[in-house]
Amino acid sequence: MIGNEPRYDYASMGSSRSARRGWPVVILGVLGTFLMVVFWMAAIRDFGGPRPIAGTAYAVGEQSELSDADTPVDISKNSLLVPGREVAAAQCAMLPLGTTAAQLEAFYREGLVCLDRAWTPVLRAIGKPVVSPKLSIADVPKARCGVTPTEDEALAFYCNRDRTIYMPRERLMRSAGDSAPYHLAVLAHEYGHHVQALTGILSASALREDAAEESEALEISRRTELQANCLGGLFLDAAKRGGALSADFVDEAADSFGDTLSSETHGSRRNQLAWAKRGTGGGTTASCDTWSAQSVDVE
Ligand SMILES: [Zn+2]
Repeated sequence: MIGNEPRYDYASMGSSRSARRGWPVVILGVLGTFLMVVFWMAAIRDFGGPRPIAGTAYAVGEQSELSDADTPVDISKNSLLVPGREVAAAQCAMLPLGTTAAQLEAFYREGLVCLDRAWTPVLRAIGKPVVSPKLSIADVPKARCGVTPTEDEALAFYCNRDRTIYMPRERLMRSAGDSAPYHLAVLAHEYGHHVQALTGILSASALREDAAEESEALEISRRTELQANCLGGLFLDAAKRGGALSADFVDEAADSFGDTLSSETHGSRRNQLAWAKRGTGGGTTASCDTWSAQSVDVE
C-alpha cells in the first residue's frame, strides 16, 4: 500500500502480578490490505493516539479468499456475531509450562491445538475457512507485515498477512515469567485476532479505522482489541468446560486482562477486564459484539 504508512495504536494489558503492570497492547493497521498486525505492547513511554512510524511500504493486492470484507462494513452484522455461536467445549490436554524454548513452544502449540478445537466448529458453522495460525517464538520476529516491533514496543503480535501469531520467547519470559495463565491469555487474545481475520472483521476494522477521524479511529481500535479480549475469554471458558483448564487457571488468566493501564487505544482497565470476563462468563460470540456496544462500554 504505497503512500499509506502503518499506524500504531496503543493500549495496555498486564497480569495480576504487580511486577507486570502496564503492558500495553498495540494494533498496527494498514489501509486496504490484510496486513493488520496486532501487538501486545510494553509501556515504556507515554503513547498518544495513532501516529505514523517509519516502515516499509506494502504491496496491495492482498485480497484473500479468507475474508469477506473488502469494504468498510457494519461489523456488528458479521456472521461471527449474529446470531452468535457457542464455542465448543474444547477437549485437549494443556502441557505444563516449561521455560526452555522447546518447552515453551510445546506449551503454545498445545494451546493452539486447544484453540483450534474450540474455534473450528464456530468458523465452520458460519461458513468461514478454517485455517490454523502459524506460530513463531523467534526472539527476533520477522513478520511479513513488514514491520518488526522492537521489544520495547511489542510483547506479542498477530500478523494477518502471514496468519502468524508471534510470541517472541525472551520477551514473553521476561514479562509473563512462569505464569501459564498469563502466557495462555496472551495466546488466546492473539488467536482472537486470528478469528477476527478469518471472519473479515480485522480487515474491515482496519479500513474503518483508516478512514476515521482520530477519536473515532481510537474507538475502533478499542472495539477491535476489546473484542479480542472477549474472544480470548470465550476460549478460556470453552477449555474449562472441556476439562482442559481449571477454574482457578481461567480466573487468573481472566484477571490478567484487567490488571493493566487504561489506554485510549485498548480501553480503560475496567473495560479491558469487563470484556475478557464477558468471554470467560460463557455465552455466545454475540456477547463479544463490541461493535454495537455503547461508547461508554468501549472507553
Ligand atoms: Zn490485540
